[in-house]
Amino acid sequence: MIREYDACLKCTVCEMHCPVLRVAPEFPGPKNGGPGLARLRAAGAVAELDHLDLCLGCRTCDTVCPSGIRPSELVNAPKVERVSRRGLPLREWILTHTALFGPLAVRMPGLVNGALASRPIRRAMAKVLHIDPHKPMPRYANHSFREWFFRRRSPWRDRPAPNGRVVYFHGCSVQFMEPHIGRHVVEVLEHNGFEVVLPPQKCCGLPLIANGDLKAAASSGRYNLEHLREWAEQGVPIVVSSTTCALTLKHDYPHLLGLEGAQAVAEHVYDLMEFLMACHEQGLLRTDFRPLRERLPYHQPCHQRAQAIGLPAVELLNLIPGVEAWNLDAGCCGSAGTYGFKEEKYPVSLKVGQAVADALRASGAARAVSDCETCRWQIEYQAGIQAVHPISVLWEAYGLGSGDRM
Ligand code: SF4
Ligand code: SF4
Ligand code: SF4
Repeated sequence: MIREYDACLKCTVCEMHCPVLRVAPEFPGPKNGGPGLARLRAAGAVAELDHLDLCLGCRTCDTVCPSGIRPSELVNAPKVERVSRRGLPLREWILTHTALFGPLAVRMPGLVNGALASRPIRRAMAKVLHIDPHKPMPRYANHSFREWFFRRRSPWRDRPAPNGRVVYFHGCSVQFMEPHIGRHVVEVLEHNGFEVVLPPQKCCGLPLIANGDLKAAASSGRYNLEHLREWAEQGVPIVVSSTTCALTLKHDYPHLLGLEGAQAVAEHVYDLMEFLMACHEQGLLRTDFRPLRERLPYHQPCHQRAQAIGLPAVELLNLIPGVEAWNLDAGCCGSAGTYGFKEEKYPVSLKVGQAVADALRASGAARAVSDCETCRWQIEYQAGIQAVHPISVLWEAYGLGSGDRM
């Protein structure tokens, strides 16, 4: 029997592209910590390697491996085994269950955001939970996205939308922290003749996967599939505005977690920019943009690159008169979801993201564009430049709002 790790050619291509190995030589890397360790573990020779948890989960190694191995999953395997035996440590449990706190936090955002920004509380969190005290926590909004969505009146409520229906998977950050992005998604889709449908949904589960809790991630995944399946069966596209959620729905549900019915749903899942670009290619996208006159560096999230869909955001932004958008191509931002908030990983996260921050500062642009929420938070923190989702720029160019955040 040929096991996946036996296919490793030891070509070191994955090592050359690994953003962590570049800045942290103590990290075993995707070759030694992936197929190399898997072989030793299968022989019962060794269970873990030191510093293996420094993996960001960016999946760059998976996209470059010529043998089709997914080293990131092999690197994550010892953590998965550890968590299945002992459960998630308290810090990881808290960082991966932000959606549980969301409904309460949006009721009292002043109190929660104030507490999460308070130095004594951050010092206590660092001492007790080893959550780094420097990086600002994302701020909760004063209402959830779904509240806004179900309060409003769709322009297609009383007449059929010319381009049919689209299901929107918004993810946790839009639901509790960035509802304005969800609004931009909905209004741009409606402007283009789509009726937006919002089935019940939970966190996609990627933070749980990254922290080794595949069982809890599968439970989230089964819930989401249960509510997405009927739409996929009707052939309705499912669009996702967070690149991390899109990768989870497209790849992790069917392949990593092996969830029943996941492949049929995955075939209808689109990254939001991928979907809008496909609309443009079919002549369905309106291009009644007003000029914006702006240079916009685009940071491609690793989890968007892993979907192998090109750079639809850059192509779409360049349709706007006066916009010059380009792919920054400076590597990983180093944020990687919960990773950059962990005390022992925070310095590695900053070192990984330095090239992105330097390139953004050197660009002289007033703001950057990225479709991943944790990339945007990292860019704003490390580069000191405002970072927006590409849908927000399209929304502005369509003249759909006055720049308000709801
Ligand atoms: S997932 Fe990213 S950080 Fe982890 S081993 Fe692969 S390339 Fe390196
Ligand atoms: S890129 Fe693939 S084949 Fe090459 S060393 Fe890494 S895991 Fe092995
Ligand atoms: S791993 Fe990323 S660029 Fe690397 S990302 Fe996701 S948060 Fe940003």
